[in-house]
Amino acid sequence: MQLPENALDMVQHEQEYALTKQLSATVNALLPALERFTAFDSPERTARERTSWTAQLEESLPQVGQGSQAVIEQLRDVVIPHGLRAGHPGFSGWIATMPTTLPAAAHLVSAISGPLCVAVQSYNLLEELASNWLRELVGLPPHFRGVFTSGGSVANLIGIGAARQYAYEKRGIDPAREGVVALPQPRIYTSDQVHHVTYRAAAVLGLGRTSVVTLPATHDFHIDVAMLRARIEEDEAQGCTPVAVVANAGTINTGTIDPLPELIQLCQEKDIWLHVDGAYGLLGVLDPRVAPLYGDLSSCGSLVVDPHKWLATSMGCGAVYVRDKKLLERAFTLMPAVYMEDAQPIYMSDTELTSQYDDLGYEFQNYGVEHSLPSRGVEVWAVLKEIGVEGVRSRICRHNSYARHLAERILAAPHLELAAPVVLSTCCYRYVPNELAGRTDAEAVTTLNQLNRIILGRVRARGRVMPSATNLGQMFVLRGCFINPRMTLAEVDAHAEEVEQCGAEVWSELSPQ
Ligand SMILES: *Cc1c(COP(=O)(O)O)cnc(C)c1O
Repeated sequence: MQLPENALDMVQHEQEYALTKQLSATVNALLPALERFTAFDSPERTARERTSWTAQLEESLPQVGQGSQAVIEQLRDVVIPHGLRAGHPGFSGWIATMPTTLPAAAHLVSAISGPLCVAVQSYNLLEELASNWLRELVGLPPHFRGVFTSGGSVANLIGIGAARQYAYEKRGIDPAREGVVALPQPRIYTSDQVHHVTYRAAAVLGLGRTSVVTLPATHDFHIDVAMLRARIEEDEAQGCTPVAVVANAGTINTGTIDPLPELIQLCQEKDIWLHVDGAYGLLGVLDPRVAPLYGDLSSCGSLVVDPHKWLATSMGCGAVYVRDKKLLERAFTLMPAVYMEDAQPIYMSDTELTSQYDDLGYEFQNYGVEHSLPSRGVEVWAVLKEIGVEGVRSRICRHNSYARHLAERILAAPHLELAAPVVLSTCCYRYVPNELAGRTDAEAVTTLNQLNRIILGRVRARGRVMPSATNLGQMFVLRGCFINPRMTLAEVDAHAEEVEQCGAEVWSELSPQ
């Protein structure tokens, strides 16, 4: 590899530097394409046109730069139009959506003017402020330490990491320092409705995937507390180390909330850490119809909530709250880095800072697994300031009502069957033709699963609504999860209509005449 002829050739640098100045021109050139994308006024063709846009993008690494205009044009003409349309009003698949405008704007703004979350600056303050606002929003007291993460996956890792710290310290071991080998058979208890990120957290934390005891859920998809108690007592008798109970406040499959008041009581009695995975559903506590299901959340050890789900910030924003700040710090602190804390200049006067680099501000890197942190709180702050507690509550209640409304439509429809009780904003159902109604034999189950798979494909291809699907026991079911701020009641109704129509079509094609 050759060194460029004169590495200090300033002409090259001047060209590069000039490009950093073209903010308005660059963003303005892209905005019309974004407006078009978010209008969702033409059908999705990204899948059908995959070959053509893939071919346009798949070039080899450019040896010589093509210039900003070439990049802007490709972003505008190829990348943006073929992005993921998860903000389409009819999208109810997964538990994901597109950010609303303001947090998306805050994302751009912070990428530029808050590139790191440390030091004396507005974004550092907003990170702390937003963390406190969100804590207050879900009803947790001030001693809970919050930290924003890249999402629910890392938030769960941190919460369960705090549980590990607690369980091992009780037995005289600091697992962050000494590792986890010293104690026998760690156990994390949860139901089979848990999100898979719990298994990975157990793996990463050195407890192992097999430490997760997955109890079969009840027929309405929550953890069976009596079975849990029996299992814990059996394990205790065998000398196992209970590390945590992982409860769900809004399971991914059905939106079910585990019986938190009973779990809180059990965990207090046994002195076991209760971790609540509310990545999706913790904000459901704002809906008075379901609020009692959450119990006294301040009695939990740690709780997760994902602003990038129901609060519709841009993707990459989760949060975890842990009841004991010092414990969390022992689990996740960075060893003081000499080039930062110890390398601060000494000031003659300690009353006034003269540079924003003189103080690290609120230090979040000691409560998680990241070091260079982006500013995430600014987006949460932006949403909460924009719509307030009442705005969030009205969104949550509206979406929960959507799921109830769809359930009513399903119960009233001749060929639709509700597959799980509706608790939050998730509704699971399937198409059942007359010929298969009431049948539970293996052949009927297989046929119904096959039929509903084909229906799902057809519904999505028609493009009015985009539900997803899941398996509940042996049953393949369609699933709408409503967290999308752009969705209206018309699209909720369309779920029932589309599945009825496509179901009738597919069944008549499949069934022998
Ligand atoms: C989404 C979700 C997760 C995973 O969170 P990510 O933000 O996708 O990393 C974990 N648990 C539950 C209940 C979820 O809904």
